Amino acid sequence: MPRPIRATISLPALSYNLQVVRNHLELAHQRCQDKTGNPLRLPFIWAVIKANAYGHGLENGIRGFAQADGLALIDLNDAIRCREQGWDKKILMLEGFFEQADLPYLQENNITTSVHHIEQIKMLEKMPAGKPLDVFLKLNTGMNRLGFRPADCAARFQDLRALQKQGRVGNIGFMSHFSSADGQPGGVDEPVRLMNQATHGLPGALSLCNSAATLRYPSLAFNERDNWVRPGVCLYGASPFDTATETAAAFGLQSAMSLRAKLLSVQHIEKGESVGYGATFTAAHHTRVGVVACGYADGYPRHAPTGTPVMVNGVRTKIIGRVSMDMLTVDLDPVPRAQEGDWVNLWGQNGPHIDEVASHAGTISYELMCALAKRVPVDIE
Ligand code: PLP
Repeated sequence: MPRPIRATISLPALSYNLQVVRNHLELAHQRCQDKTGNPLRLPFIWAVIKANAYGHGLENGIRGFAQADGLALIDLNDAIRCREQGWDKKILMLEGFFEQADLPYLQENNITTSVHHIEQIKMLEKMPAGKPLDVFLKLNTGMNRLGFRPADCAARFQDLRALQKQGRVGNIGFMSHFSSADGQPGGVDEPVRLMNQATHGLPGALSLCNSAATLRYPSLAFNERDNWVRPGVCLYGASPFDTATETAAAFGLQSAMSLRAKLLSVQHIEKGESVGYGATFTAAHHTRVGVVACGYADGYPRHAPTGTPVMVNGVRTKIIGRVSMDMLTVDLDPVPRAQEGDWVNLWGQNGPHIDEVASHAGTISYELMCALAKRVPVDIE
């Protein structure tokens, strides 16, 4: 018998969120058009499904985002699985390829790749011609992880142009990744300026916006050229922001991942008694403690402190004491009728929002989603 813990992945929520993002872009586009009168194009959407679709399962991502214009990921095996699953639209390798031997797979499977390093250009030079690869030249506009310096853009573009003439490279686009689209307003100004300067006069599609930029600065994605946005976390129903106003609910996003587990036991402790490892919670009065079949080995964050919200039988209550490997403990005083066998909703449907749990635990919802453990049985809705 499986342990009484279950995750649920909602495919309708994934496709709903994709539509929310599309609507958001369309509305902003309409406003932009009204203001400027310029015929700016609406962007295409790459749904980011790296890291096992942010913990939701690759196949679920492929199915849930069936209406996306493309899928973006980092693992070549996953990209090939997308093709095997029948995905026939675009696929982008966000980090490109890692060795020469990867290239035939990209060619065979018609996969678009980012190019961010001179070694990759050298590998492309050695690749057999005939099946040209679409590429996005990745520029480093301040994140300082991957990408060429904007000042080198024209030279690298010429390298790719030469490969294009040899039938090794197909379409050439330009991409960059923001470090601070979710931070202080203005966090994208300098990267955008650098990007515009570097790509001025060079033909090709652009791709800049992650979830935060897509939601906050949608007009960045409206150009005279093709533009591809690359939202990830918002498509799974979470907000990339930690402001009070830019919540997932405010954007109309639905949680795609839910986690719940049953009450294994109900303990009664008296004033002065404590709960769990380290005795970090001491009861101020007689307290009913619910022991829940979920711990950090299931992916629940160990750092979630006393006070982290959970829902029991539709009533909001909180974790007390330390999260242990296979169990956590909750305050059942607000739920007097709760008993062994009742479900406790830890996040998602009928539970607190995953962003709220993450914030209590001092992390971000991305980490919680990705950390959902393999041992947790998953229902797909
Ligand atoms: N684009 C790139 C290059 C990324 O690395 C990521 C994720 O980190 C994304 C887009 C999607 O980001 P987010 O989930 O914040 O929308």
